[in-house]
Amino acid sequence: MLSSTHVPEVVGNDRDAALVSGAGFAGLATAFWLNRLGYDVTVVEAAPALRRGGTPVDIEGETIDILARMGLVDRVRAKALPSRRFAFKDAEDVTLGSIGASGDHASQERYEIHRDDLLDILSDAVTGLVELTFARSIATLEEHAGGLSVTFSDGEQRDFAVVVGCDGNRSNTRRLAFGGGDRFTHFMGGYFFLKVVPRTDLLDPNTTEVFRTPGRMAMLNGYDDRTDIGFGFRTDSEIAYDHRDRGQQRRMIHDLFDDLNWKVPAMLAASAGDDDFYFDRINQIRMPCWSRGRVVLVGDAGYCVSPLAGLGGSMAIIGAGHLAAALERHPDDLPLAFRHYEEGFRPFVEEIQERAATEGMSTMCPVDEAELSERNREIAAGDMGW
Ligand SMILES: Cc1cc2nc3c(=O)[nH]c(=O)nc-3n(C[C@H](O)[C@H](O)[C@H](O)COP(=O)(O)OP(=O)(O)OC[C@H]3O[C@@H](n4cnc5c(N)ncnc54)[C@H](O)[C@@H]3O)c2cc1C
Repeated sequence: MLSSTHVPEVVGNDRDAALVSGAGFAGLATAFWLNRLGYDVTVVEAAPALRRGGTPVDIEGETIDILARMGLVDRVRAKALPSRRFAFKDAEDVTLGSIGASGDHASQERYEIHRDDLLDILSDAVTGLVELTFARSIATLEEHAGGLSVTFSDGEQRDFAVVVGCDGNRSNTRRLAFGGGDRFTHFMGGYFFLKVVPRTDLLDPNTTEVFRTPGRMAMLNGYDDRTDIGFGFRTDSEIAYDHRDRGQQRRMIHDLFDDLNWKVPAMLAASAGDDDFYFDRINQIRMPCWSRGRVVLVGDAGYCVSPLAGLGGSMAIIGAGHLAAALERHPDDLPLAFRHYEEGFRPFVEEIQERAATEGMSTMCPVDEAELSERNREIAAGDMGW
């Protein structure tokens, strides 16, 4: 493992060229480490700029060690949000159970930081050190004896020694290197909508509230300057909808939640209007192997744990740190380095995925009345186990 004071030796041969696809947490952290390791790094991001928005990111455990090794932990601490109280509510807004702001996690260092703040910290850390281009992606990827030939969406062709796919849940690199379709996607039986609104009158700041009925959940995250409005629902199988038709997705949420009380009518009214929201199936990515030849995956691209785990950002940063440590240890042997990366990190990934698929889904969105009653009993007893 890289130690906190240790700056890796330059191991890339004559500055081997490395390509990173995607400029989220996985891509920016991977680019940081590859540059430290001596690679000549290019990052391609499909969006026209860094993709902002979304709920805050939890930073704890090994993520803190890795951010310290990157020299970034003080900047993260400076942006840390106040600790938050998490409460489960019934239809009359009575609290069924809660996790205190300073109780359960008080013994371990743990922060929550806005997703955009962490993106800024990571992108500042690579600015001027790597080539970062937007509105561009990999069109074709071909491995030959000495490396990989890549054609970009704008037609440019270049050779790279290694390609790291950090392009998220619907990874383009995964599709090109491992085959298309949804064969590594595990649908978890539900969908999630999230809208951030610039108002603070729906709940107290630094508070999360969750209201559930069988198969449906409504969630509010309060901050001092904004509120996240979330809706989740269960389905037996994937539903057909047009990914580009935002009006259809908004109507679907409205139709599904229209008859609920608690704060739901106010939440629906507050989230109506524009198309700037997140809506997607809840899924994980589970692959038998995260690398093929000179291509390797980091973050959601290789092992999305789902929003239910609350750890997607951490997994991306830890994954990039593990890959860097493996490349430093085996600088002249990519297959061995990739194997070392996977062997070291896979057990933790699988543990988090399993927990999200079982306790996470059941606690946040119980499937029926019996499961809801059982979870509520645990919540009231302060025994959530999650
Ligand atoms: C805008 C946004 C909002 C999010 N909100 C939440 C949230 O509220 N809750 C939650 O749990 N998780 C959310 N996530 C997911 C969360 O950020 C990830 O689970 C986690 O940070 C892992 O990071 P990642 O870098 O692996 O993947 P991502 O954060 O998904 O980053 C992948 C990057 O790759 C880019 N990309 C995609 N396709 C291509 C391509 N073909 N070529 C090049 N680049 C490509 C994307 O534009 C993106 O910048 C959000 C992600 C995004 C992008």
